[in-house]
Amino acid sequence: MDIIHLLPDSVANQIAAGEVIQRPASCLKELVENSLDAGATHIKIIVRDAGRTLLQVIDDGQGMSPTDARMAFERHATSKIQSAADLFSLHTMGFRGEALASICAVAQVEVITRRADSEMGTLLEINGSNVVRQEPCQCQQGTNIKVKNLFFNVPARRRFLKTDSTELRNLIQDFFRIALVYPKVQFTFVSDDEIMFDFSAGSYKMRIEQIFQHNARKQFSEQLVDIKVNTEIVNIFGYVGKPEAAQKGNPQYFFVNGRYMKHPYFNKAVMTAYSGLLQHEQVPAYFIYFDISPSAIDVNIHPTKTEIKFADEQSIFQILLASVREALGKFNLIPSLDFNREGDIEYSAPDKAVTNLSIHADTTYNPFKTRSANSWQPTVDHRRTDVDSNWSRLYGNATSPAAGKTQADVAIGTAAQQPTIDLKFAQSVDKEKLWQFADRYIIMPTPNGLCFIDQHRAHINIMYHLFVQQMENAPAGSQQLLFPDTLDLSADDAVLLTEILHELRSLGFDIETIGPESFIINGVPSALTNQNGVRALLDIIAEIKSSGINSKQHWHEKMAWALASNVAIPYGKTLNQDEMKDIVERLLALPTPALTTKGQQVLSVLDIPTINAMFNK
Ligand code: ADP
Ligand code: MG
Repeated sequence: MDIIHLLPDSVANQIAAGEVIQRPASCLKELVENSLDAGATHIKIIVRDAGRTLLQVIDDGQGMSPTDARMAFERHATSKIQSAADLFSLHTMGFRGEALASICAVAQVEVITRRADSEMGTLLEINGSNVVRQEPCQCQQGTNIKVKNLFFNVPARRRFLKTDSTELRNLIQDFFRIALVYPKVQFTFVSDDEIMFDFSAGSYKMRIEQIFQHNARKQFSEQLVDIKVNTEIVNIFGYVGKPEAAQKGNPQYFFVNGRYMKHPYFNKAVMTAYSGLLQHEQVPAYFIYFDISPSAIDVNIHPTKTEIKFADEQSIFQILLASVREALGKFNLIPSLDFNREGDIEYSAPDKAVTNLSIHADTTYNPFKTRSANSWQPTVDHRRTDVDSNWSRLYGNATSPAAGKTQADVAIGTAAQQPTIDLKFAQSVDKEKLWQFADRYIIMPTPNGLCFIDQHRAHINIMYHLFVQQMENAPAGSQQLLFPDTLDLSADDAVLLTEILHELRSLGFDIETIGPESFIINGVPSALTNQNGVRALLDIIAEIKSSGINSKQHWHEKMAWALASNVAIPYGKTLNQDEMKDIVERLLALPTPALTTKGQQVLSVLDIPTINAMFNK
């Protein structure tokens, strides 16, 4: 007896719906995307009970003919692609032709639609995949679709829904993700008869403002800086938040070809650009739009998935990193350390002209100005040159062009911050004025207060940057061990070690493989003086394993970190004046002296107002 039979469409659609339509928000997303694909300029969304009883989308798009309206609810019915090849030149949000079929399998749907070229529109009623009514009707051009009682015939799904407030939050979240990409489309969002959002058409920045401007937050868009870069691989534009506006919970959005996406690796690129500019746990806002050939991403991505695969993620990482850095550098958003905080101390240059000059320093300082968008070559070197020049100007590093110049040259600060560093101080770090406290902190007087530098973290920071550079450029010196160490690893660690052998060599390790899981260490980086090479290697492996991210650039940072932690001057070590001066000067020449790459505070200033306050002044 034959036992195989085809499932009726209604059942097949219901199964498919389980994947595509998981909750009211996914249903709304599909409907709104259809309106956008139909070229709508105004989209009105009406929901009731967080979409449980009603989800309605009214658009002024191209509408559907009576036959198309009927077809639209069949599975794999789409007007958007003809063949698989079209997938690679896709410019619509939808293409699978399964959304409406899925929705009508699990809800009661009513559509009213009319094309511009026909006088009469069509009304169509479908109840759990069964067409119960189709008739001509009078209506506006466009499509008005009502999805009622979602999951009415799938109790299990209905029970699976969260509270109304959670589902409404999901609806709003998905709505924002779309509204942020279509600023030229007017959106109205009504929930339980109340207008929640009414966004007029405008620019990207306006839309961001419309969504994220809260009363508590003054001029959200003023806290944003433009980013823009066009390369052969990808075009990127958008906005990143100024570091000083960083705070927990700030919105962070990536979009690719008009679609919201999550991308932890690209997020890392953005965060790397901010390293040293943020206080611990504060996050910058960003809205970054990628424009890329559909053939360079995995377009066949599932509608409910937001992770998108790119063909050339590493190059894009670098482009993104460089462009965010450029944006932050262009506006001279250098670390706003306590050094230049406005206090009630007197500015040491009372000369008005000088003050004005330095206030406008941000327009003259642009380390990237001469670089064309295509010639990006972001390496650690850039990091050194961009912000470094501020620090060396500030501290009058011997090689700095500012050494010996006028006060205006050494003054730094953003437009909002008065520079308060004087020339005397900027000349160089005076080693006689440094002292060590608790065998832990180097203390340096500055005009604004006492700067405390954590000796161990400062040295980690210095060595970290050195090691990152060594891996990318010149290999480091190695010292041969008199008595080579052997290292036996577990199988997975051995695979990892083999994968990073090249980098380890550039750091100064001399490692020989003597078996699948056994190695001999003949030499270690010369920075590792007396320390244990095996321990450093195990730390490196552990550090890499601790991050889920699988990219060489990321690994380099992890390796540099582990090795720097191993070699850094420990707490409790007494330092002489020359050692302190060396550490302070090298630290201040770093692009990000104030924070380690893990966000730990390296230096902090006890400022004069605080000191005065101790005396009730
Ligand atoms: P897809 O969007 O993947 O093509 P859908 O099931 O979402 O699949 O929609 C099927 C078809 O119905 C679309 O290709 C489109 O032709 C038509 N359609 C759906 N919604 C609208 C709308 N709001 N305006 C005009 N046409 C629409
Ligand atoms: Mg669709």
